[in-house]
Amino acid sequence: MALMFERRTHPSPASTAERNAILANPGFGKHFTDHMAVATWTRADGWLESGVVPYGPFQLDPATAVLHYAQEVFEGLKAYRWADDSIRLFRPELNAARMQRSAERLALPALDETDFLASIEGVVRADRDWVPSGGETSLYLRPFLFASEAFLGVRPAHRVTYCCIASPAGAYFSGGVKPVNIWVSEKYTRASPGGTGAAKCGGNYAASLIAQAEAAEHGCEQVLFADAQELRYVEELGGMNVYFVRDGQLHTPELTGSILEGVTRDSVLALAADLGLEPVQRRIEVAELLSGMDDGSISEVFACGTAAVVTPIGALKIAERSVSVSDPEKFTVTAEIRQRLLDIQYGRAEDSHGWTRKIS
Ligand SMILES: *Cc1c(COP(=O)(O)O)cnc(C)c1O
Repeated sequence: MALMFERRTHPSPASTAERNAILANPGFGKHFTDHMAVATWTRADGWLESGVVPYGPFQLDPATAVLHYAQEVFEGLKAYRWADDSIRLFRPELNAARMQRSAERLALPALDETDFLASIEGVVRADRDWVPSGGETSLYLRPFLFASEAFLGVRPAHRVTYCCIASPAGAYFSGGVKPVNIWVSEKYTRASPGGTGAAKCGGNYAASLIAQAEAAEHGCEQVLFADAQELRYVEELGGMNVYFVRDGQLHTPELTGSILEGVTRDSVLALAADLGLEPVQRRIEVAELLSGMDDGSISEVFACGTAAVVTPIGALKIAERSVSVSDPEKFTVTAEIRQRLLDIQYGRAEDSHGWTRKIS
């Protein structure tokens, strides 16, 4: 039976002045809207108790399983306000499907696609005024599922909470898009064969933070992880998939089971083909990437994900070595793909793939 996500309106929502002050400079992940969607699952009764309710803290027993064993998965997607004032999502059914796969890996129950979409639409419709307009702003949506049973035994929880919160987001690159430096870690890996790399779970992020700190020590903004077995093949960044351009082809590591299958990744591969670039998914050696950047045969390198969209990569650093893209001013393919994607998301270009979905 479908969940209803009936609305219980916030008795004292943010005032228009408060909301407008936040929307004028939202940043990322700092401010939250007036409502959130929640649903609870129990092993005995399945999913029940759904609603769109006033945003607020959970009361958690100290023995709540997620706090001890990290049985948790999440999603990330955006709602966009178009020039005609309609609100759209971008390929949300892929997020629904991925959350189901992530949940399965973490032994959690998932919402079916209908309920997942209903929860998101419920929050966005309740907080429609929180969707910013102008520039590359959006309302970032964060659905998540966690083990909410108070129990210290190690087994899949018998009680699970689903929640979707929303946070207005400004343009990720406030000072214009500029290339980042990437640290290739030879000390830490992100995901191993048979592990949770392909699942969007908080534990993967917890495990990547120390590598992120290592990158910062070397003057880099992000980490590129290599495969855990041989440290030989390129996998991805901590939260973004990675690509390079060579000879009219767009290369990205093939999905191995330890790489997260990004919605942006899939979209970028399709857009590359639209733009006349041949998309190539295969195993890519770190050494190949380094030498290609060094000798100039690789003309552009970039990363992508929902939050930052498309980020050019100017340099890679590994141990004592550093290689740069020869002409970082160019990034023409990167810029073209980025623009194309944004134009579809914001309704400025024809959505020939049918990726956008009007929800309000
Ligand atoms: C979320 C995520 C991505 C990007 O996925 P999108 O669906 O494009 O936002 C890439 N890598 C990791 C590890 C992620 O968690």
